[in-house]
Amino acid sequence: MDTKWMADGRCNEESSDVFFPSDGVGVEIAKRICAECAVSERCLDYALNLRIDHGVWGGCSERQRRRLLRARRISSAA
Ligand code: SF4
Repeated sequence: MDTKWMADGRCNEESSDVFFPSDGVGVEIAKRICAECAVSERCLDYALNLRIDHGVWGGCSERQRRRLLRARRISSAA
């Protein structure tokens, strides 16, 4: 799997702790950084494809990614 896009992530300018927040405020802070990231779509795809449970990836929280995966399963079953 191609991971070269990671070098272009805005998170490279931040502590990795920011993207593994312990509360909702932290999640919003991470999501704001992701919103300005040029590779956020690829990042989200990566996290969804690998079923990464923890952290904010591609501007989505763990809960949002679970919802997206559920929606994908439902649409592929229809
Ligand atoms: S979308 Fe967020 S977590 Fe993903 S590479 Fe960009 S800044 Fe990092």
